[in-house]
Amino acid sequence: MAQFGLIGLAVMGENLALNVERQGFSVAVYNRTAEKTDSFIAHRADSKNIVATYSPKELVAALERPRKILLMIKSGAPVDAVIKQLRPLLEDDDIIIDGGNSYYEDTARRSRELQASKVNFIGMGVSGGEVGALLGPSLMPGGNKDAYEAVKPVLTKVAAQVEDGPCVTYLGSGCAGHYVKMVHNGIEYGIMQLIAEAYDLLKTGLGFNHQQLHEVFSAWNASPELNSYLMEITADIFQYIDPETNTPLVEMILDAAEQKGTGNWTVISAMDLGVPVPTILTAVNARIMSAYKEERVKASQVFDGVSGRYQGEGFVDKVRDALYCAQICAYAEGMTLLKAASQVRQYHLNLSEVARIWKGGCIIRAESLKSMQQIFHEQPNLSMLLAPHFKQAILSRLAAWREVIATATQLDISVPAMSASLAYFNSYRRDRLPQNLTQAQRDYFGSHTYHRIDQPGTFHTEWTPVDAASLQTGTAD
Ligand code: NDP
Repeated sequence: MAQFGLIGLAVMGENLALNVERQGFSVAVYNRTAEKTDSFIAHRADSKNIVATYSPKELVAALERPRKILLMIKSGAPVDAVIKQLRPLLEDDDIIIDGGNSYYEDTARRSRELQASKVNFIGMGVSGGEVGALLGPSLMPGGNKDAYEAVKPVLTKVAAQVEDGPCVTYLGSGCAGHYVKMVHNGIEYGIMQLIAEAYDLLKTGLGFNHQQLHEVFSAWNASPELNSYLMEITADIFQYIDPETNTPLVEMILDAAEQKGTGNWTVISAMDLGVPVPTILTAVNARIMSAYKEERVKASQVFDGVSGRYQGEGFVDKVRDALYCAQICAYAEGMTLLKAASQVRQYHLNLSEVARIWKGGCIIRAESLKSMQQIFHEQPNLSMLLAPHFKQAILSRLAAWREVIATATQLDISVPAMSASLAYFNSYRRDRLPQNLTQAQRDYFGSHTYHRIDQPGTFHTEWTPVDAASLQTGTAD
């Protein structure tokens, strides 16, 4: 009997099956298309402790109880279809783990539906791409706690290992795991956009070539404040030469970014919960704008383009500082969103643990997560930007951040996420914003009322004398 079951032998499933087996667990696999199973068994799984099965029934029969079955299939309807196939075959205490990028509301519904039966359900975010899946991803499980305890021995071995343990922890009930994974991806959108803007500033604003870009990003990656997986792969990308054109491959790639929806979901949830996430929102917008390629090409012929190069000194270091500050804002937005969601949706998230399991394996792994882990460990409810460590780090770089945005604006280089994060920071640290005027306007046109700063209560003002006769005749519009 195999100790662990896995359904879905695309890139993630194959690599996770090999990872689980490498950690000493026998694995039974099933894939809807049998040829993929055959090919996997004949090649990558050859002479491994992995057995092929060719139907959900055969898979269930091949597993020891309580069965642990990981789904690594396309999210959405396929997950419901496979759960429907499995459910009548499973017995009390068996466990289904959905490791795909499922929408958290779907996971909440599936948790509720499966609660009625004795089959346990875990919704688990998996981050790290195919290499992470094979060598150690960051795992974000949520759902039934007892079921987590039953799969913990496997997950703790399969996950990436960092200095203080495996990058997995029980996050909370229901869809907590998939919610955390969604916010992880939202932060990922923000950071990727910020890195893209830094690249644009150096390439367009300074005229750097790809060797220079490689050197700058490598140096940044070697510094504790900017060391991260995304920085590391960015430095690598600049060195890759396209064999067909003998030019840096990145310049041959169409500048139209695609997306699968997790950034959108993050922004929608943030808006629903009333949490500002401008860096993440702007990153989603930037991908959408990039996809308007044809129209942008036309517009570039109508309007003047970028207006010259930066002529001053020390711009690389200033961009580095701006990038650091803006990235911290992207993390702060994500962490604030998690805190709000945890309160409203009763996830009981431990943000220090979230930062800890993001330190290895996942796409947003970064040295700065160590500080976040420590800060939330000491003060779980502290707003991240108010922590002395980040306060100091940002204040010492604020002049550079401001100058980079001003310079980019003068050069007509769009840096939407860096600008949005600076505006976020500047709004956050203002004790009085201009939304008193917004409230006055709302009260003026819609009698929406307002609060005063000098007295408690709700107020409404007749801002202009109303022409009662015209209202009665319905001509007020
Ligand atoms: P895909 O998302 O491309 O999904 C392909 C797999 O889903 C195949 O095994 C396919 O089977 C199966 N499948 C599709 N529809 C059905 C169905 N109706 N019934 C049964 N099986 C079905 O694979 P990935 O490996 O890229 O991703 C797997 C999951 O992990 C996804 O949810 C993805 O979002 C998530 N993920 C992916 C990452 C990545 O880097 N790729 C990173 C982190 C998470 P068949 O061969 O028969 O078509």
